[in-house]
Amino acid sequence: MQSEYPRAGGKESPLRVRIPRAMGLLQRLGLPDQRTGQEPLEEPSAPDGDKPRPAVPEEGGSIVPRSPSSTASSPSSAERGVRERNGPSPETPAPQTPAAAQPGPAPAPAQPEIAKARVIAFANQKGGVAKTTTTLNLAVAFAEKGNRVLAIDMDPQGNLTMSQGIDPDSVEKSMYDVLVNDASIREVIRKREIDVACASIDLAGAEIAMSMKIGRERSLEKALRPVLEDYDFVCIDTPPSLGLLTINALTAADKVIVPVQCEYLSMRGLVQLQNTLSMIRQELNPDVDIEGILPTLVDSRTVHAKEAIEILEENFGDRVFATRIKKTIRFAEAPVKGTSVLKYDPDGVAAKAYRDLAKEVLGNGKR
Ligand code: ADP
Ligand code: MG
Repeated sequence: MQSEYPRAGGKESPLRVRIPRAMGLLQRLGLPDQRTGQEPLEEPSAPDGDKPRPAVPEEGGSIVPRSPSSTASSPSSAERGVRERNGPSPETPAPQTPAAAQPGPAPAPAQPEIAKARVIAFANQKGGVAKTTTTLNLAVAFAEKGNRVLAIDMDPQGNLTMSQGIDPDSVEKSMYDVLVNDASIREVIRKREIDVACASIDLAGAEIAMSMKIGRERSLEKALRPVLEDYDFVCIDTPPSLGLLTINALTAADKVIVPVQCEYLSMRGLVQLQNTLSMIRQELNPDVDIEGILPTLVDSRTVHAKEAIEILEENFGDRVFATRIKKTIRFAEAPVKGTSVLKYDPDGVAAKAYRDLAKEVLGNGKR
């Protein structure tokens, strides 16, 4: 039987008793309620063929975790790269016309479809939830599979830039110049394990400098356009706020991955993030959607972490990735060497976790 909040007869933890209020709010913000299976009120349907994930948990209410091996049918590298934002999907058959049977001018040769990068923003306004760690290591996991990957550092702290061994204080031009002065993004890209569009401390002033610009929410989207065909994936790291830098990232993105530290307070932040995403959908980017919610910094020994994951799954169902990123010191060690954890400790559990996550994402959500 699907559990209700608070659990009847059970010992009520503060987490379980208080979360329903937040979840009531989730529903008002348009989130699917996994407990009732009710769809959100005004959630626009994904027009690009990305089917919304089933909102109803299995009979009996338990959400069966999906095994990463269920993503074995990943598309080929070429298929992965093809992600049309404005056109029909590559699988869409051309409309059949009787023209072939008719005399007349020969039809114009079909234009080859140009593969464009899938743009993924990593967002959560809470700091320390592994946004930067996830952006870098998932980007490197994509690259290991033969994809061309650009990671963009939109955080003035420059942690992503530093994690690839680049000193943000030494870069001549940074994302600040791209966003504020319309410099080409190519000028701020450095080649490392993946390509990195660097941040510098200047970026802290970008929100104020951009606030006077017309189209200030679309600066990143505009800057990305010329390089979308050069990459299969663009991964955008965001700062711990829902300000203009994050709004630029969400406006430029096709999908959002939300790393969540499995603690009650972290999960409440999801409400605010959903609220911002709803606004972005209404005003700026109707197709942006959550690719998945990623439980990070999981300490599987604690009851609290287990309970927090359960609540995530009860409320977000299939949107929660099957991959869990466990706590390990390797994640703190790797950036000191200026490398991803996949390069630092290629055979470790940390590297495997991000490879598993890459498989899930490359499976286009068929988890
Ligand atoms: P954010 O970008 O959300 O602020 P970070 O990716 O910078 O978060 O991670 C915050 C801190 O936690 C960093 O010191 C990072 O090395 C560490 N960290 C990230 N993921 C893990 C993990 N799975 N286990 C242990 N430490 C982690
Ligand atoms: Mg960060």
